[in-house]
Amino acid sequence: CGIVGVLGNHEAAPLLVEALKRLEYRGYDSAGIATINGKTLDRRRAVGKLVNLSDVLVHDPLPGKAGIGHTRWATHGAPSIENAHPHRAGGVAVVHNGIIENFRELRAFLADEGVGFETDTDTETVALLAQYYLSLGHSPAEAATDTIAQLEGAYALCFLFDGEDDLLIAARKGSPLAIGHGAGEMFVGSDAIALAPMTDQITYLDEGDMAIVTRTSLEIRDAAGNLANRDQRTIRMDS
Ligand code: GLU
Repeated sequence: CGIVGVLGNHEAAPLLVEALKRLEYRGYDSAGIATINGKTLDRRRAVGKLVNLSDVLVHDPLPGKAGIGHTRWATHGAPSIENAHPHRAGGVAVVHNGIIENFRELRAFLADEGVGFETDTDTETVALLAQYYLSLGHSPAEAATDTIAQLEGAYALCFLFDGEDDLLIAARKGSPLAIGHGAGEMFVGSDAIALAPMTDQITYLDEGDMAIVTRTSLEIRDAAGNLANRDQRTIRMDS
């Protein structure tokens, strides 16, 4: 029930966990993070409270300065490590808030293409679809665009790509999503409050927007695929 993303200049894992803690009030049943370490995508997940994820990270650290994180409120598939986000398929990891209403149709399409499934979640379909487009030779931005175009339902999404330590792709429809601007750093959060320790400079995505984020740039496309300008604001937070 919370999404965060970091393109930072310091270790991402502690920032991701800290940001997720600020979203704990929304409730969740499991949590996880993924990072790019050098060029390699990896992830850690745990059922229950964030302290369980922190314990996993103590024994099995996850280095890297770019990453995504998630607290899950299960809608499709029991709370379990396998069903916890980030979901990974080949070279892409994704975190998702919401429900992909047409995931059964998308699974049927992927099954016809010979793709196998590891979880019961609607979200895994998003990762598998993105990987399917990557395998056709599409760039990460193209693969994300093609994937999002097929999704019905409500979502806030953030993608992380193997080999890409300066790229996050975020999208929203029916769930809020904010981009945070740092000094040579960028952040993604389902709520600006998650980003408060990092920045008070926030750009909210509009309904249907997709954002291509690097440490030094933010490109937003609207639902029609056109470049869009969204205001950057200074957010005051008491907590
Ligand atoms: N529908 C997804 C799942 O059950 C995401 C739930 C959420 O918003 O945390 O995994």
